[in-house]
Amino acid sequence: MPEGSYRFQVGDICCTVLSDGYFSYPTSWFFPNADPDELSRALARRHLPHEAVLSPYTCLLIETGRHVVLVDTAIVARLEVAGVRPKDIDTVVLTHAHPDHIGGAVDSRWRPAFPYARYVLSQLEWDFWTESRPALAGLRVPEDVKRMIASAARRYLAPLRFQVDTVEGETEIVPGVRAIPAPGHTPGHLALLISSQDQHLLNMGDAAVHPLHLERPDWENGFDLAAAEAAATRRRLLERALAGNMHLMAFHFPFPSVGRVAARQEGGWEWTPGW
Ligand SMILES: [Zn+2]
Repeated sequence: MPEGSYRFQVGDICCTVLSDGYFSYPTSWFFPNADPDELSRALARRHLPHEAVLSPYTCLLIETGRHVVLVDTAIVARLEVAGVRPKDIDTVVLTHAHPDHIGGAVDSRWRPAFPYARYVLSQLEWDFWTESRPALAGLRVPEDVKRMIASAARRYLAPLRFQVDTVEGETEIVPGVRAIPAPGHTPGHLALLISSQDQHLLNMGDAAVHPLHLERPDWENGFDLAAAEAAATRRRLLERALAGNMHLMAFHFPFPSVGRVAARQEGGWEWTPGW
């Protein structure tokens, strides 16, 4: 496989994680309420820089045999390296409408980048970003970043309006792939459960954006619109994964962004990467 992609089977379903690059964020945006000394020690233990979080972007390609599904939109060039053409994709799932997840949904001429795909996202998410001025007071990032997020959502979603298929509640998108409401990061944020032959991958989207948020459930993410709701969602998804012996995926976790969790005695969860 080309560099930046990693392929594995979930039962009969072929999954490929595709690196869509990295972006550097001020550490305080990722951990706005963490005690600075504790955060410094936690980052040092992991040999991570203190001043910035270098955050991976990782999309998921799901090939069920009948359907080709892309979860969050990678740059087309990356897909083509993995042997997939935009017209091969029949379903695009957008976990939510932040720019890092929808930036590849349209092409450079503002047309849908995947011409034959239905674009699946939650009705709540569509309404939140398109209907009115989205209320972003809950985000703990600078005001210009909030404005950028809102205007990007409007610009990227509008060209998709004839191909959008919104879902409500827990919904099967294609056989073996279910959307699970996972609100908090955004109002209509979705997780996805991929299941085949008793194997399961729970894609959390941005319900967690750094392994330290699992280790320290009290540490919030500045990009979560509703921090308490996001924390409850994170806990619910992790407990579901543990109870169901599932692997997990998270868009911003270190590549290949798949792994498992175990409950820690001192609270929280430990992330172990790998399939
Ligand atoms: Zn994200």
